[in-house]
Amino acid sequence: MRSLDRRLAALYHENEPRKFWRFCDPIESSVFEEAARRSVDVLGEAFESVKSDSAREIVAAVLSEATTGGHRFTDLHRVYYRIIRPLLPPAGRRVIRRFRRRVTDEAGPLDWPIEHRFVSYQMDLLRNILQALQAQELRFVGLWPRTFTSCLVLTHDVESSAGVRNVRRIADTEERLGFRSSFNFVPDAYHIPSSLVDDLKVRGFEVGVHGLKHDGLLFSRRSLFQSRTKTINQVLSDWGASGYRSPMTHRHPVWMQSLDVEYDLSFFDTDPHEPMPGGVMTIWPFFVGRFVALPTTLMQDHTMTEVLGKASPEPWLEKAAFIHRHHGIALLNTHPDYLTNPESLDAYKTLLSVLGTFSGRWHALPAAVAAWWRARSVARIGDSLDPVDLPDGCLWTVAAHDGKIRTLQDS
Ligand SMILES: [Zn+2]
Repeated sequence: MRSLDRRLAALYHENEPRKFWRFCDPIESSVFEEAARRSVDVLGEAFESVKSDSAREIVAAVLSEATTGGHRFTDLHRVYYRIIRPLLPPAGRRVIRRFRRRVTDEAGPLDWPIEHRFVSYQMDLLRNILQALQAQELRFVGLWPRTFTSCLVLTHDVESSAGVRNVRRIADTEERLGFRSSFNFVPDAYHIPSSLVDDLKVRGFEVGVHGLKHDGLLFSRRSLFQSRTKTINQVLSDWGASGYRSPMTHRHPVWMQSLDVEYDLSFFDTDPHEPMPGGVMTIWPFFVGRFVALPTTLMQDHTMTEVLGKASPEPWLEKAAFIHRHHGIALLNTHPDYLTNPESLDAYKTLLSVLGTFSGRWHALPAAVAAWWRARSVARIGDSLDPVDLPDGCLWTVAAHDGKIRTLQDS
């Protein structure tokens, strides 16, 4: 494989197909390697340059955004966040953001808002393994606990004190509709009443950290990142929080290893409109060294209003249906700051009402999903897992005749 940094690649080794699928019966690694070789074309031209015979390396290349952009703080970022942005009033920043999003080249290496190739790659790999083993079906540890067949996680980034003032209203709305979510706050950007953090937790919501300041400079220098991380880790500990999302979804998988978190929300499956465009292509959680990454897979609220020019539940529902069909995680990030707009709030409420009717969808807080993903990665049949036991009932199958995944509910 061409020049994927070894230290970076090593962070992704726990996601190799053998560990991802967790088959119940032992399968020779040569079978995986041969299947990976035969399936790689499904990933398309973007991956021509990283063609590898190793399933582990192919997956590392995809998840580390090796060819699709991502986690590069460029000179343009430096000039914008250091010099231009501080001179602009909030309205001016919005105009620039809107303009940049509208002119962003959507003909990048990834499709948007639905990027199916990594999902197809994993499914093709299953078919090739079945064929190589001449098996009618294979059993594996279900992707989700109990009888759930997909997952739904709601998150919010709170950008300003206007957002803080709207948090309780959003929490009330969700609670009325039977949902809970996580709220990520920026410790050094505005006042965060400790009573608000405590109240959210008591009511079954989660709190997380959204950078230290919201100035876009966190990843501009390693030394700055390290010094801010010390404070971020202190705040995580003070709040009893285990989750994090970077402002502007800036990210650097290697640097981020110094965050004391169980999970991170800064990665997304595909989005050409983010300040660091790109995407990890997956609709499932994955390991990045010490933490579990839960990819944001539904379009962000401000992207919808700024790119599509309207707030509507349709783009969310269409993607949520794709994710549900492929047993993935529908993870949404909305902002209490923007949900002050009645049109956006209506779209959000409609989304929740419809999602409430999806059967088999596991609605959970991000910390619980990260805990499940970790437990699943090491569980043996018969183990008792928190929050579920892992009896035979948790096993899913993939069938040779149609390549479809069947869960306990289907059988
Ligand atoms: Zn933010």
